Amino acid sequence: MVEKLRIGVAVKYGVDVSLARADRATGLVSLAGAPRKTSDFDLNAVEEAVRVREKHGGTVTAISVGGAEAKQSLREAYAIGADQGVLVTAAGAAAWDSRAVARLLAATIKKLGGFDLFLLGEGSTDHFAGLIGPRIAAELGVADIAYVRKLTIGPDGVVAEKDLEKEIEVLKAKYPVVVAVGQEINTPRVPNFMANLKASKKDVQTLAPADLGLAPEALAPAVLIDRTAVPEVPRKRTTVSGATPAEVAGKLVEALKGEGVLA
Ligand SMILES: Cc1cc2nc3c(=O)[nH]c(=O)nc-3n(C[C@H](O)[C@H](O)[C@H](O)COP(=O)(O)OP(=O)(O)OC[C@H]3O[C@@H](n4cnc5c(N)ncnc54)[C@H](O)[C@@H]3O)c2cc1C
Repeated sequence: MVEKLRIGVAVKYGVDVSLARADRATGLVSLAGAPRKTSDFDLNAVEEAVRVREKHGGTVTAISVGGAEAKQSLREAYAIGADQGVLVTAAGAAAWDSRAVARLLAATIKKLGGFDLFLLGEGSTDHFAGLIGPRIAAELGVADIAYVRKLTIGPDGVVAEKDLEKEIEVLKAKYPVVVAVGQEINTPRVPNFMANLKASKKDVQTLAPADLGLAPEALAPAVLIDRTAVPEVPRKRTTVSGATPAEVAGKLVEALKGEGVLA
């Protein structure tokens, strides 16, 4: 029976892919200079963590791995209601791949004394590999549940509803457990001005890989992103013309029927 729930949550300060642009000539997307934001599902994960604490008590610790700018995600987590924020950072953080990030998160969880419940997004907004949750659970040797749409907290473990598109699977796991969530689980609150102001003044604990017993070799990328390119989509460039708007509309409807877009 867990007395005081220790809840951890991962937040990634990722690339805002909606604002990333491809070079027209090469078709390549440069993520390095693209605008950044907190990964979408991570706001759901933080919201869920705070709701669990509000209902059952305990503490919420948000952890981000990345450059100094990732503090922004921890400030957002504070504004939603996290109690503590931890940034794991070092020079060269931008090159850390999923394996390195998961190792750092797992080592941080150990360093902080472990969590009963560790929440994260089921995929990040930018790379969406969905690897971090299973990798952390494997590093720690604990249970892992993904694609969770509803989470119920019990004294010894959780009951989670997982979306299988046509069916709902109900899973049970004892603490400690890693739970990955999507946007259907809740609607993250929008912090007000005072919450944001308070969050901006809170301290963020900073850890380096060495503090976690991880040497640079353990964080060297196993997978290198060679390039990110936007595939060219051939356009038909069909033109519809006519003497009157009604004639153009009629031809457009016929063209769309021909394409199978309209029945
Ligand atoms: C400029 C740049 C260069 C990169 N170079 C490489 C490269 O060379 N090779 C490579 O493989 N990858 C590279 N990446 C991708 C990136 O480092 C990892 O792939 C990523 O951090 C983890 O994988 P994911 O985003 O696919 O995680 P997913 O498994 O899709 O994310 C699931 C959840 O895990 C948590 N999470 C993920 N990342 C973090 C984090 N950093 N901190 C806290 N929580 C997190 C979040 O809750 C997220 O919702 C690069 C990224 C950037 C921005």
